[in-house]
Amino acid sequence: MDIDSIECVSSIDMDEDEIIQQYHHPFSSSKAPHNHIINNGVLNPTIHPATSVHELLECPVCTNSMYPPIHQCRNGHTLCSTCKTRVQNRCPTCRQELGDIRCLALEKVAESLELPCKYYSFGCPEIFPYYSKVKHEAICNFRPYNCPYAGSECSASGDIPYLVTHLRDDHKVDMHSGCTFNHRYVKSNPREVENATWMLTVFHCFGQYFCLHFEAFQLGMAPVYMAFLRFMGDEMEARNYSYSLEVGGYGRKLTWEGTPRSVRDSHRKVRDSHDGLIIQRNMALFFSGGDRKELKLRVTGRIWKEQQNPDGGACIPNLCS
Ligand SMILES: [Zn+2]
Ligand SMILES: [Zn+2]
Ligand SMILES: [Zn+2]
Ligand SMILES: [Zn+2]
Repeated sequence: MDIDSIECVSSIDMDEDEIIQQYHHPFSSSKAPHNHIINNGVLNPTIHPATSVHELLECPVCTNSMYPPIHQCRNGHTLCSTCKTRVQNRCPTCRQELGDIRCLALEKVAESLELPCKYYSFGCPEIFPYYSKVKHEAICNFRPYNCPYAGSECSASGDIPYLVTHLRDDHKVDMHSGCTFNHRYVKSNPREVENATWMLTVFHCFGQYFCLHFEAFQLGMAPVYMAFLRFMGDEMEARNYSYSLEVGGYGRKLTWEGTPRSVRDSHRKVRDSHDGLIIQRNMALFFSGGDRKELKLRVTGRIWKEQQNPDGGACIPNLCS
């Protein structure tokens, strides 16, 4: 994950007037005395001291939390690095030239704060200082999954139930229940195809979801087809399952047995690691029968659950290097 994307991000494109307006809001007179309220001569005990620190770290322009690098103008007005790139080198508060001054004191404060993982709303209970938090978030088990649909750039992400609905409704993916399957892949003029991705199929069994992929690509000099299964969940869970694929005809047969890869690994990564059933095009056309002008492959397969994984640490191609 790109670490920059974790920092202060706001999707609103603000013009200068809006920036000024938003700037004055967080420290407006109604809010500023908040931390110094004295009730009956006693400091209000319900106000947690950390609140003021968090307010101090709120970017006055976009109101997101500021993390290093934190910038300031010559008059000491602070702003986050995302906003700094947007204000054309002029302080949104005093309109002085911004220059390239960091606010190291505030950066130290930001680094020392314990913050919840940004996926806490997905169920992650972890709390870290800033830099450890950024590292953790890149591998957090609660981080959303990317849409497993291959063949188009899709930016959808979320938890598995969300993605299953998304695949069905937005990509019109075929959904099947059961742990055995029998799928036909057809293509006219298969010799013209260099890189092709067939519509994926989703299987629902053992209370889990699996994606069956079928692609054509060039493996070295040889045009090949490849079928493989991905598990909709994380890698640890994927190891609890195995699958087999079989394709053949006219007295020949190719079979593959493997562990489904997690959808955390992109279909491209799985493909490039050859972790699936690879069929040379000539053999695929032979299996298709007829005059070999058309691809007509029947792929059968089965998914099963392993006994509690004895070799849980087994090496996955291209993951152990
Ligand atoms: Zn900002
Ligand atoms: Zn300023
Ligand atoms: Zn987390
Ligand atoms: Zn999608």
